[in-house]
Amino acid sequence: MNSQHCCKCGKYLPEGSARYIVSIRLFADFDDNIEISEGSEGDQDSIEYLLQCLEGFDDKEAESYTNDEMAFLLCRPCRNRFGRNPLNKPGCDIKSGERHTGILH
Ligand SMILES: [Zn+2]
Repeated sequence: MNSQHCCKCGKYLPEGSARYIVSIRLFADFDDNIEISEGSEGDQDSIEYLLQCLEGFDDKEAESYTNDEMAFLLCRPCRNRFGRNPLNKPGCDIKSGERHTGILH
């Protein structure tokens, strides 16, 4: 195991120290619906523009715009802070033992 630094606070993490990986996956949330109002040219223009943009992308490039994964090494204090408030929202600390849930469908 290599010595490394915490990605959040920069603390040196010598070999054998407590360290944590936070892995984040970002992906597009598409509900299979595109809202089109009847008689609205603006919506139709937007859809045609979107389709033109996608035509220029290969599958891998298009996926990179809708799907991303990242991982960060954290020390124990930063891991605990992240676990209590992963989105760093004021007043949203989660008490120990509670499970965090966001808006997912
Ligand atoms: Zn840290």
